Amino acid sequence: ATDVDTANMTTSTPIEVRHLIGDQWKAASDGATFESRDPHDGALLATVARGTADDGAAAIDVARKAFDDGPWPQMPPKERAKILHAVADAVDDHREELAQMETRDGGKTITQSLHAEIPRVAHNFRFFADYVAMAANEAYPDGDLLSYVLYPPAGVVSAISPWNAPLMLATWKIAPALAFGNTAVLKPAPQTPLTANRFAEIALEAGLPAGVLNVVHGFGGEAVAGPLTSDPRVDRITFTGSSATGVKILQAAAANHTPVSAEMGGKSANIVFADADLDIAVPMSIRAIFGGNGQVCLSGSRLLVQNSIRDEFLERFADEARKLTVGDPKDPGTFMGPLIEQRHLDKVHGYVELAQEEGGKIITGGERLRDADHAGGFYYPPTVIAGLTNESRTAREEIFGPVETVLGFGTEEEALRITNDSPYGLAGMLFTQNLNRAHRMAARWKAGTVWINTFFERDLRLPFGGEGISGLGREGGQYSRDFFTEPRAVTIRL
Ligand code: NAD
Repeated sequence: ATDVDTANMTTSTPIEVRHLIGDQWKAASDGATFESRDPHDGALLATVARGTADDGAAAIDVARKAFDDGPWPQMPPKERAKILHAVADAVDDHREELAQMETRDGGKTITQSLHAEIPRVAHNFRFFADYVAMAANEAYPDGDLLSYVLYPPAGVVSAISPWNAPLMLATWKIAPALAFGNTAVLKPAPQTPLTANRFAEIALEAGLPAGVLNVVHGFGGEAVAGPLTSDPRVDRITFTGSSATGVKILQAAAANHTPVSAEMGGKSANIVFADADLDIAVPMSIRAIFGGNGQVCLSGSRLLVQNSIRDEFLERFADEARKLTVGDPKDPGTFMGPLIEQRHLDKVHGYVELAQEEGGKIITGGERLRDADHAGGFYYPPTVIAGLTNESRTAREEIFGPVETVLGFGTEEEALRITNDSPYGLAGMLFTQNLNRAHRMAARWKAGTVWINTFFERDLRLPFGGEGISGLGREGGQYSRDFFTEPRAVTIRL
């Protein structure tokens, strides 16, 4: 199998990561591999099967067979739930190991991996296992007619996930897909392939039947992800990643009429009114952009501060930003680890240079960290930019790094106009003590999620997704059911 020695990952030799197809761990059909390296120090962590289109098709074959021949789709929901609970328990048992692996592979702080993301992996499975086992169903009596609705599984699901919260986002797809009776092929992001593979191994050991979950590694387009989006034997595609990739996937899927659920980029507004409790608004706003290094789709990357408190707020905000610890993500005291890779660091810094060309003023940060503690990794400091308008590219495009653009506003109406003037529409944060205003604004906000006096709370019953180029469709609770099943109306004359 994967020969993982995570207990000793800092010193052990690189591991070998292969595809999981059925119950077989397979190299790429042409033997090609790529490397996965630690963004903290460049250490080689793994050589990974570089999947070909043939590998993608082989995984779909197996998932198709596992769906058509069962037993998974026909299993009573409570039986499936029992297995998915066993998977969740096994994730808890391997929490330390998975968290360490996530931290080394993607630079996520160990605090975040251990206490937030890996626990959420287990929660994803428990939530959807229980949801399906306990779901109510509709019946519509109408005179001598009785109608009801069935929710049979859709079939084979392709799940394509990004690197920024690797296993948490992969299982946000896999857990509902499997709970509703589908089989799946998962392709994790090439930057962070490790935890998906280890998870699949753990799930098999916990009793998930072979073929129900398959994992392939590699890249998009013509490579392994090609068949995942264009093979007519795929019934659903669930994708999380950039808006640009989302468009390509939608185009590929259109040829077969395959439904796509797409969770894509963001440029969310974080609005602070003069009446906000700054003891809440300042730390929440800090977390909203610098938590996860700003490599979070939901980040509050446009900070709108009411003019009357702008200087006071900005001073407190920048002071807090300067105090954040940036360093080795394995250290529990670290708040921000390295960015994912050199190419991404170049992109983030490119936007900081662009901001200056656009007339922006750097309040803090703005240069790669090159001292002895940081030189070996892709470290970038918390960066705050003022002096721009919402028309600047810096304020309109997704940077996906620890870079905050601060904008001013006068009135509620102006705040809403600026907020909604964005191609994105994923989320928004609002800090005010005026709850009438909060409700008024939430009702007119172009965003799939609005948080008032808080940030990042996720109840899995709620719809999750975005407007504009941030997304297509919603997942969560009944919204996941509607996507991962093929609802069928049945009417009987009595
Ligand atoms: P990406 O679009 O580059 O890649 C995402 C996944 O798609 C990867 O697995 C990649 O290999 C695959 N892929 C690339 N091209 C493909 C193609 N042509 N066909 C099929 N698959 C293909 O995104 P990324 O850089 O990994 O992730 C960052 C992006 O994800 C950001 O834009 C971020 O906002 C977004 N994101 C959104 C959410 C959300 O819930 N809305 C959550 C996390 C991240």
